[in-house]
Amino acid sequence: MTASVVVRAPAKVNVQLAVGGLRPDGFHDLANVFLAVGLHDEVTATPADRLRITASGPDADQVPLDETNLAARAALALAARRGVPADVHLHIAKDIPVAGGMAGGSADGAAALLACDALWGTGASRTELLEICAELGSDVPFSLVGGAALGRGRGELLEPLETGGTFHWAFAVADGGLSTPAVYRECDRLREASGHGCTAVELPDPQPSPALLDALRTGDTGALAGALANDLQAAAVSLRPSLADTLRAGSTGGALAALVSGSGPTCAFLAKDPENAEAVAEALLASGTCRAVRVTSGPAPGAMVVG
Ligand code: ATP
Repeated sequence: MTASVVVRAPAKVNVQLAVGGLRPDGFHDLANVFLAVGLHDEVTATPADRLRITASGPDADQVPLDETNLAARAALALAARRGVPADVHLHIAKDIPVAGGMAGGSADGAAALLACDALWGTGASRTELLEICAELGSDVPFSLVGGAALGRGRGELLEPLETGGTFHWAFAVADGGLSTPAVYRECDRLREASGHGCTAVELPDPQPSPALLDALRTGDTGALAGALANDLQAAAVSLRPSLADTLRAGSTGGALAALVSGSGPTCAFLAKDPENAEAVAEALLASGTCRAVRVTSGPAPGAMVVG
């Protein structure tokens, strides 16, 4: 039997997050353009006498170690489909900020699924793996696929996108997380307060920006900078007003564009090149408006077995 399987899965930034009105089922339709970036979690799956989760890394104390962990849920979902016991030890080496709007939990879910599939020799098809990912959460299928993709529906209906180059980023990691449902609720509240309504009947369907898709396809960083958009940004800043200072610090520090990543509170800064990304990171650190800074690039590949 295989001793253990190691899978690496990437973080993401939403280069466009267009949020439609609130649906009767409580979700929002999205036009969600994902870009996977080179920050990773690694999940190691080892045979055990019961399902066990452990975590290491700077944010490990914030990772749930029970069956609410997306890695545990992925193992249970695959085991249930195959009628096998989920007797596995999943160790998460966590490098993606927790509750940071970078899909860290989703990365762990996709990684655990792939790792258990390999460990148990279940031989699930790509389609079945993607189905399980979609059951686990809206961002999980993208963590499996990586690269760049347009997500429709709740974000789980994925269409891979072509990219024509590498995009360089600095990320400002905040102290503490933001709850994704709370940010959506705040988005609805702000929309209602502005008098436009917040329901799917009152608001137009969210659409991807042709200019943004074009910028990704051609690898044009300047054009991408002009097209970045996040409908959740106002809500994240409303719940965490200090994010406005972080966004300002990165822009003043030379970033081409700044935006909140997904539901935040991580802020993403698009840079001209790797040197510019390092300079922005230094300016962010010097500003004292964030806990940590990470420099990386995308697109990055999706979850893959590395050991
Ligand atoms: P997204 O960008 O997909 O909205 P996020 O990056 O903001 O997600 P996560 O890091 O995925 O947020 O964590 C959100 C919450 O999910 C955490 O507060 C935690 O309670 C729970 N969670 C479940 N599984 C995990 C996991 N493997 N790692 C981190 N958090 C997890």
